[in-house]
This record gives sequence, structure tokens and C-alpha cells, in this order.
Amino acid sequence: IHYHLTRFNTSASKLSQCPDDIGAEVAFAGRSNAGKSSAINTLTNAKLARTSKTPGRTQLINFFDTNVEDVRIVDLPGYGYAKVPIAMKEHWQKHLNDYLQNRDCLRGVVLMVDIRHPLKEFDLMMIEWCHDAEMPLHILLTKADKLNRGAAQNAMLKQKQALDVKNKPLLTIQAFSALKSTGVDQLRDQLNAWLLA
Ligand code: GDP
Repeated sequence: IHYHLTRFNTSASKLSQCPDDIGAEVAFAGRSNAGKSSAINTLTNAKLARTSKTPGRTQLINFFDTNVEDVRIVDLPGYGYAKVPIAMKEHWQKHLNDYLQNRDCLRGVVLMVDIRHPLKEFDLMMIEWCHDAEMPLHILLTKADKLNRGAAQNAMLKQKQALDVKNKPLLTIQAFSALKSTGVDQLRDQLNAWLLA
């Protein structure tokens, strides 16, 4: 897949607005500010994803078409935008749930987590959901450039142990930096493995 040829397709505020449920797609998820937009933009070498600082956009699922027919990248709403009213949060949760539970073409989830921070409630919820649904999950420990090499290795080791990655064949984890473009090849390899299988 030539990720740099990825183009915006559509935004959906509910399941019925999503593109036809055919082919294959991977979904990018994460708490607001975890580095999701930056990861997607680095992967595609474009400015496709916008940062989730505008609450309106956080509600939408954004679909992007790769150069391969019916193979898509999906930008899920960032979780945890503080100023969003409770009713919107509830709508968001239902919307995300609908998508995760019902999307047949979903091949895997990429979860962005800041390498410097412990996993939060949303992260643990996604990890558990993927595990229960036997959905492949790839965790990006983002902003790896904020730590020196040793500390980054250490953080990854700790997460691997905490999540018992050794015993979970569907769970993978890597360090990533959008700023330094590190870990992009590994991410591409993972996506190709899911999307072209
Ligand atoms: P999102 O809300 O998950 O989409 O997060 P963004 O991609 O908008 O990133 C949130 C903030 O973290 C922004 O200020 C980014 O510039 C910063 N950021 C994202 N990725 C990196 C990275 O790899 N390194 C560093 N140093 N900062 C990053």
C-alpha cells in the first residue's frame, strides 16, 4: 500500500453514514492529544487528520481511502476532550461502540498512547474490548522523541510486561515519533499485514 496516496473519503456521525462495509480498514484510536493526528499525517505524509482541539470534529469518524481499492484508514474521534458536554460524550460513546461492534471490514485497531504516561481508563477499555472481540491491536507509544533511547526502551518494556504481550498474539506494541519519523516502517508493516491478508 502506498500510504502517501491516501485521500479523504468521508466523515460519519453515525454508522449509517459510513462507507459500505466492504474491503478492509484499520481504525486509529486514542485519547485527545495522544498524537493520533500526527501519527496518521506521518504515515500518509500528508495533512489529512486535524488535531482534535476543535470539539466539533472530535465527534466524527473520518474515513480515508488508500490507493488500494476498498482499503481504508479510519480516524476515530479522540477521546476525553474536556470541554465536551456530557450529552455529546454519550453520543460519542454510542457511536464508537456501534462502529467497533458492527464493522465487519475492521481488521485491526491502532491505539495511540503517550510514551511518558501510564495507560488511562480509555486505553484500558480499548485494550479490553479488542481482547474480548479477538480484534488485533497495535499500540503506538507516541512522542518517543521526548525520552532518551534508554528511557524509551524501558517504557516499552514496562508496557509489554504490564499488558502481558508475550501471551497475547493479537497484541503488538512499538515506539513511535511523528516528530522524528521513527517507527513508521514498523507501523506500515503492521498495517500491510492486516489489510492485505
Ligand atoms: P491527537 O489529539 O491525538 O490527534 O494529537 P495530535 O497529533 O494533535 O498531537 C497532540 C500534541 O502532541 C501536538 O502538540 C503535537 O505537536 C504533539 N505531538 C504529536 N506527536 C508528537 C511526536 O512524535 N513528538 C513530539 N515531540 N510531539 C508530538
